[in-house]
Amino acid sequence: MQYNPVELIIKKRDGYELSYDEIGFFITNYLSGNIPEYQMSALLMCFYFQGAMPKEISALTQSYIDSGKRIEFDAALPVADKHSTGGVGDKLSLMLAPIAAALGLYVPMISGRGLGHTGGTLDKLEAIPGFNTQFSMEDFKKLVLTHGYALVGQSSAMVPADKRIYALRDVTATVESAALITASIMSKKIAEGTKYLVIDLKIGSGAFMPNLKRARELAEHLKTTGESFGQKVAVVFSNMNSPLGEAVGNALETIEAIEYLKGNYLPDTYEITTALISEMLMMAGKAKDFSQAETMIQKVLEDGSALAKFGTIIAAQGGNTKVIEDYSLFPTAKFKLPLVAPTSGYIHDIDSRAIGYALVRIKAGRMKTSDTLDYAAGAMLKPKIGDYLEAGEYIGELYCNDNSKGSEVADLICKAYTIMPEKKEKEKLIFDILR
Ligand code: URA
Repeated sequence: MQYNPVELIIKKRDGYELSYDEIGFFITNYLSGNIPEYQMSALLMCFYFQGAMPKEISALTQSYIDSGKRIEFDAALPVADKHSTGGVGDKLSLMLAPIAAALGLYVPMISGRGLGHTGGTLDKLEAIPGFNTQFSMEDFKKLVLTHGYALVGQSSAMVPADKRIYALRDVTATVESAALITASIMSKKIAEGTKYLVIDLKIGSGAFMPNLKRARELAEHLKTTGESFGQKVAVVFSNMNSPLGEAVGNALETIEAIEYLKGNYLPDTYEITTALISEMLMMAGKAKDFSQAETMIQKVLEDGSALAKFGTIIAAQGGNTKVIEDYSLFPTAKFKLPLVAPTSGYIHDIDSRAIGYALVRIKAGRMKTSDTLDYAAGAMLKPKIGDYLEAGEYIGELYCNDNSKGSEVADLICKAYTIMPEKKEKEKLIFDILR
């Protein structure tokens, strides 16, 4: 059936529900070039403002999946994955996937690039010289079956609709929509053949969901969609008010993930990563409870098998494995600028979104789809909400290759910290788990 795209945009703009066919028509014709970027952008903005009915979310997800091929794994294999709704300093996939693979799970991880103020797994991996994230469906499956996991991007064969629309949402301020987030995440996770999926649903200043209420609505959409495709889905609601770990920026985060696999983990990344892997192990029937899962995770970190898995996948995906021992092989920044507390007191609030956007200015993320990244750009930020700082004490350091923009960005980052004399409690990292 042929439709007039303008009429469909008007229908959605005015709050009416689009049918399965209408959504399918729009996505298919956008991908084939018959519907231009500006009409797709307009429709995305309508979804952002009007929301979507469950049937529309399911039509969007199905049309994204149908835009490419779907992988099927043998029914007996424990195929499990995790996906995050996006955060600042969120490098958890880099350590989670090799740990899960070392524990016998099969992890076919199709990830994304940076989105808005948040970083993307693919960009972090591509900070490793030579690392390739583009594979055919067949080679991707082979990697997963051979190594227990693979870390790849959407492509013309795998959820191409998400590849195009994800990049468009990034630069049209249409990311924070439960419908669009659900279709984007679930299409990738269904097309890749995952059976057990854990979602890291981030909440707070550095996340797309500002509060638990909105996050629960999104969780329901994600869970219902996954279950309608036969998946088991668990959702971990995690705190994204303080940047995760210490590193924010592609190369810096990948180095932090390698340190984690060497056993040098930070308390916040450890707590959330362990909770996520435990959910995967429990859904796949490999652990009976959290305590058993944590013991299993500790073992593969201590005996070096999780780190070895990371080395194996770097080699298999064309990257230079020497980066594991020699961090100077990563792109490095010419300048390091100090980030200091302007006043003494407790950190009451961190505007992590502002930090993410500030770092986009020095090319740690993109302003437009065609922007190239500076993998070395980023910041090391240690203190969290509730920590005490003396005036002049280091919040951290900014890494950049453009000194004049760097000073502006340093200033923006320091302003993202609200420091007050009154004591402030530390925040919990995990708010809830939906199973
Ligand atoms: N991750 C995705 O893959 N898509 C989104 O829309 C948000 C986070």
